Amino acid sequence: TRNALLERQDAHESSARSYPRRIPLALKRAHGIYVEDIEGRVFIDCLAGAGTLALGHNHPVVIEALRRVLDDGLPLHTLDLTTPVKDRFMQDLFDILPPSLSRNARIQFCGPTGADAVEAALKLVKTATGRGTMLAFHGAYHGMTQGALQLMGSLGPKKPLGGIQQGVQFMPYPYDYRCPFGLGGDAGVQAGLSYLETVLTDPEGGVPAPAGIIFEAVQGEGGVIPAPAAWLQGARGLSRSAGVPLIIDEVQTGFGRTGKWFAFEHGDITPDVVVLSKAIGGSLPLSVVIYQQELDLWQPGAHAGTFRGNQLAMAAGSATIELLRREAIPEHAERMGQRLMRGLRQLQGVHPQLGDVRGRGLMVGVEVIDPDGASNRLGHPAAATAMAKSIQAECLRHGLIIELGGRHGSVVRFLPPLIITEQQLDHVLDIFSVAVQNARR
Ligand code: PMP
Repeated sequence: TRNALLERQDAHESSARSYPRRIPLALKRAHGIYVEDIEGRVFIDCLAGAGTLALGHNHPVVIEALRRVLDDGLPLHTLDLTTPVKDRFMQDLFDILPPSLSRNARIQFCGPTGADAVEAALKLVKTATGRGTMLAFHGAYHGMTQGALQLMGSLGPKKPLGGIQQGVQFMPYPYDYRCPFGLGGDAGVQAGLSYLETVLTDPEGGVPAPAGIIFEAVQGEGGVIPAPAAWLQGARGLSRSAGVPLIIDEVQTGFGRTGKWFAFEHGDITPDVVVLSKAIGGSLPLSVVIYQQELDLWQPGAHAGTFRGNQLAMAAGSATIELLRREAIPEHAERMGQRLMRGLRQLQGVHPQLGDVRGRGLMVGVEVIDPDGASNRLGHPAAATAMAKSIQAECLRHGLIIELGGRHGSVVRFLPPLIITEQQLDHVLDIFSVAVQNARR
């Protein structure tokens, strides 16, 4: 599936390293759930900017909002100075936060990426508590800059960077299918919470009080692992009684992706700090940190940066929030997610290489397993990794872009635009079914 443009880049000695080695496309146009490559082939995009494109590509309301900024001569660059666009955006954002959070919250605009907002959140809680270490979770993904990378719950990308492993204690995430305690279900959740309680409260445990706890309410890159409501509530309660701020990373899960505006709402909890990016800018780069007023102990300018508060992204973000609200798209995402998971579970009955199917809303994953493997729990599923890659390649061959994640890249992830229709979703399932059928071990 390589094309002339990619081959020219590969041949050039200063060729760019492009995002997806396994998705070798050069794209020309995009609309809704579809992208078109330079050879005119059309693909359904179930990666959607790694969950960024809530309204799909180039939604008319987003394009219109961008046009308005340009046509009206509004300032494109303001160094984060206030503008009517920014004021409106902040109101729109605060309107969709649960009141338990918004009534006492502040906002910090960050650089364009999720990782930059994670860096800001780290600095915020470290300054507020005067402490220096963090608790994070196995399988976590918070970005690729050094502070965010430090929190990554898998070793690979950290290995070349000496010393980066220090300063973070990793805890087991509630991963029912491969329960780290070998328990699963409620017993696994309780075991994880007891362990967390011990680490946070045992004065003989040898762990200093951390500056903060950070997790995703549904792990994304880690393999689409939703934390059960009881675990979210337990972790919230424990961090509160220990006086340790709780940061929830909603970079991938925010803005309706999981069927609610924010994934922490599935546990009906209020975090102290929320990190937002991806969908927040309506497909343009933007990130923010929302945090409880009490934590606001850092100095003005503590997290400065030239490209904060991108005006176009805020205009696109406001337009996105407005449409998500008006058309109740988070609820639609919930229904479509149920439909997708139902379809995948039917396929699971036919294909023994499809293991756990799970997700929340339109953040859905299928664990690819080696049906002949002795133990899939923690064993190295080399055959599963190969199978997952082959499924991804077959999907692409049939016009469907999906991504992999999780342990050894053996979880197939679906992150379609939230506006996807039933009919389009059924088409996705048809292609996926053929791909699984054709995939090689
Ligand atoms: N946090 C989470 C949960 C993410 O999924 C990601 C990106 N996949 C990030 C942070 C980092 O965002 P960015 O790539 O924009 O730095």
